[in-house]
Amino acid sequence: MLKVAASLTAHLAPNYHPLEVELTTGEGSWVTDVDGKRYLDCLAGYSALNFGHANPELLEATHAQLDKLTLVSRAFDHDQLLPFAAELTELTGTEMMLPMNTGAEAVETAIKAARRWGYQVKGVASEQATIIVADNSFHGRTTTIISFSTDATAKDAFGPYTPGFRIVPYGDLDAVRDAIDDTTVAVLFEPIQGESGVVMPPDNFLPGLRELCDEREILMILDEIQSGLGRTGTTLAQDHAGIRADLITLGKALGGGIMPVSAVVGRRDVLGLLTPGTHGSTFGGNPLACAVGRAVVRILKRGEVQESAQRLGVMMRERLQRIADAGHLAEVRSRGLWAGIDVEPQLGLTGRQLCERLAERGMLCKDTHGSTIRLAPPLTISEEDLHTAMDILEGVLNDQAHEVGLD
Ligand SMILES: *Cc1c(COP(=O)(O)O)cnc(C)c1O
Repeated sequence: MLKVAASLTAHLAPNYHPLEVELTTGEGSWVTDVDGKRYLDCLAGYSALNFGHANPELLEATHAQLDKLTLVSRAFDHDQLLPFAAELTELTGTEMMLPMNTGAEAVETAIKAARRWGYQVKGVASEQATIIVADNSFHGRTTTIISFSTDATAKDAFGPYTPGFRIVPYGDLDAVRDAIDDTTVAVLFEPIQGESGVVMPPDNFLPGLRELCDEREILMILDEIQSGLGRTGTTLAQDHAGIRADLITLGKALGGGIMPVSAVVGRRDVLGLLTPGTHGSTFGGNPLACAVGRAVVRILKRGEVQESAQRLGVMMRERLQRIADAGHLAEVRSRGLWAGIDVEPQLGLTGRQLCERLAERGMLCKDTHGSTIRLAPPLTISEEDLHTAMDILEGVLNDQAHEVGLD
């Protein structure tokens, strides 16, 4: 693996600690580094690459739009925006869409819309609105969003923080109920916590939350930026619970791994409160982003990637369970083609060390924290390639177990 020259790293802010690979091309589930070594990409851009690298259908739509019109700003209409809004709301079973760029901006937009609804419709006293959120959540990196983070690394020394959030234990419906008062305008949760290591709430949590929100007249906001758009075997992760949130944030895979495209979709009576001048973005809803987003929606509408996420997810689960049964994983959590695995502590291997060894053998992953890593290969990965990835993982863990005398 190539070691990047220290003289070059001096010019880059050190807010990431990447594995020592320097990639130069990508196709499907495979990426190649500057030395020509190939790796299976089992991070897939934190699920921004659900449809693989250089997806031909997405590239074609992008190239076609590049030659026509790329940016007009929202000062003018263009021919991609209204069709994108219609197609994305149809796909997600919602009424209205507000386009942004990054995931964090979509979350900020949902927070603003919920607060406005709280003041203008629910009648919450001015400046008093609260939103209930979960511990160990991840919703982005803006100052307001880190204000309700429980991750000290993400939060410390960035204050003063934005008030108006109440943190409850994730998946605890009684705690949500207890946190509600006259100031509560919304709850904001991930249907499955991604950065936290693919953590699922109890089965009754989302349906119970839906009922509670209806009963207490509170908006239910679900952040599907990482869990959505096919990853769990359904278009949205909340489909498993058979519910629809009032506002849903989408991002990551909505940009097809090509560019940042995000959106809030949801109720017309809520998003409709964001009238001209109250919210916006220079790049949000630009023609190129809309063309990419429309091509993503077209793929998802066919349902094939959701089906393969489901089918391959079963296979991945079986392979991971076998490794757990051998005593090398302490826990496996998965839904669709998305898994969080905790390395057995006795192996004495941090998530980071595991990722380094996997990379040596041609598989790219990222640790989330401690000895937990997340597996999220492109949904377009072949069965054979997924078996190869599982072989590599199994091999590294077997060798380590042998090394420490655990086999
Ligand atoms: C990645 C992520 C975000 C933030 O998206 P950015 O595009 O990095 O701003 C928000 N919520 C969830 C659940 C995410 O996984």
